[in-house]
Amino acid sequence: MMNSEDRPFSKHYYEQRECAFCSELFYAHHGHQRYCPEKFGKKDYCKYKQKSMLTEKRLADRVVELANTGMSVRQETPLEKNKQVLLLIMGTERQKTVSCALLDYHGFDIKYYDTRIPINGVTNFLTHIGNFSLELIKQEGTILTFKIIRKWT
Ligand SMILES: [Zn+2]
Repeated sequence: MMNSEDRPFSKHYYEQRECAFCSELFYAHHGHQRYCPEKFGKKDYCKYKQKSMLTEKRLADRVVELANTGMSVRQETPLEKNKQVLLLIMGTERQKTVSCALLDYHGFDIKYYDTRIPINGVTNFLTHIGNFSLELIKQEGTILTFKIIRKWT
């Protein structure tokens, strides 16, 4: 009998790949596998997360499309506008550090939010808008830098 080391093609069944969502390595059992088979104890976790983020991105793209053609169906509130700007800026990223110039450019207005929680005493806030949280991490003159984090809910 041959043991497993002697079988020349056995490695073909377990090709090591990088997950297209979380970049961790996993062993692919067939050619179409692009995501970890499971993560956090959930089967196909990465595959479905990727899918829902792409849906979110498509919605954001659609909003931009509508805005560009001037066919926006109704007047949006400043808070809705902020949510759309964050979707646009974040794309499928989980975390980004951006300057207020980029936010201003897209018409973002920090005065409109869902909730705001003081952190580090009274000098700073964690601002929640839609599926994102913003934290002011740097201020140089009038240039504010925010860290934006996508919440995993
Ligand atoms: Zn993964």
